[in-house]
Amino acid sequence: MPQIKFLVLLVVGIAISFTALAASPLKIQSIKLIETQAGTKLEISTNKKPQYQLTANANSSQITLTFQQAFLIASLPVLSTRSLIDSIASTRGKSGEVNILLNLKAQTTYKTWLRKLGAHPTYRYTVMIKKIKPAKAPDIISKNYQANVSALNNVANKTISTAATTPTSPYLVVVIDPGHGGKDPGAIGARGYQEKNVVLAISKDLQADLVSLPGVKVYLTRDSDKFISLRGRLGIARKYKADIFIAMHADAYRNSDANGASVFALSERGATSESARWLAEKENQSEMLGGADLNDKDYLLKSVLIDMSQTATINASLELGNSILQQLREMTKLHSHKVGQAAFVVLKSPDISSILIENGFMSNPVEENKLITPSYQELLAERIKNGVVVYFKTHAAPTTIFMQQYK
Ligand SMILES: [Zn+2]
Repeated sequence: MPQIKFLVLLVVGIAISFTALAASPLKIQSIKLIETQAGTKLEISTNKKPQYQLTANANSSQITLTFQQAFLIASLPVLSTRSLIDSIASTRGKSGEVNILLNLKAQTTYKTWLRKLGAHPTYRYTVMIKKIKPAKAPDIISKNYQANVSALNNVANKTISTAATTPTSPYLVVVIDPGHGGKDPGAIGARGYQEKNVVLAISKDLQADLVSLPGVKVYLTRDSDKFISLRGRLGIARKYKADIFIAMHADAYRNSDANGASVFALSERGATSESARWLAEKENQSEMLGGADLNDKDYLLKSVLIDMSQTATINASLELGNSILQQLREMTKLHSHKVGQAAFVVLKSPDISSILIENGFMSNPVEENKLITPSYQELLAERIKNGVVVYFKTHAAPTTIFMQQYK
């Protein structure tokens, strides 16, 4: 027995030294700092695929990037006053690792990704840092979402006690609803990527983009991989008193050639086309997976009572959808050049402008590839944000912070 043990140790020992010999150290060739409208981007280029680790403190104000078996060849970038990075430093650890320490300015959030560059056998690790606006207690100033609210007042003021008729704040509230989640993966792409993860990533980018606007608060119905019923999502929008609600999805279709983005608002009499109806049924299916939500029963009754007032909301939703389509058109093919209308459950809030964006087709391998790429996700988010800005400029009350400050 002792001999066998010795043999095992010997083999392990050889394996370790062989690996140590075979692995040439990682070279950190450049560290670039790019200031963009969206935030500060730190790009770390390496000569091969890095073994790395990211640690952050509780409020994410300090990030440490550790690259195993590495040498820092590049010099650290000079920080501008605009940068969301307060300070940057590097240290070398005992076991040959390089630590890059970032101190971030207050109220920032970050996202990282690693990308293999096409032309060279090199990799780029990116840290994108964006600003978050702190959520403040709103003052009570009434805001006019006149079309919606007055229509509601006329038809349903007596029916709805609190919703939509309460005085609102000078803030504009956006609720982003990343579709699916948890046991409901949504569309599965040609390469196996899941819609629920793709739309969550785009939604987080969109949140970061929108909170950078003055007087705009942004909430996600889910910020992790969890299941929420469709009516639960409506409830979240209502809880936050959303001005607009954006459901984020990515399509799948029997025909893998189908491509392009599309935007939907609620239809008054169900789906307006075969394709829209098919989609509506598909998106509604997750409700069955989630089971009944009893708390929503009286809401359902209410929604029947105020159905008539929905016309104003649908018109506003169509305008919001159109603003976004105009923006998306500049970066991606559109599946349809008009805002579609379908009976999606999540769009049924009677007093919240609600749209559903199909960001592209997971079932199309080319689009799936784009949809999983962080830089493409950011581009989609930025375009959608631009569309929201156009909409707010024509619909938000003059008393809102946004209208007073947005230049
Ligand atoms: Zn979906």
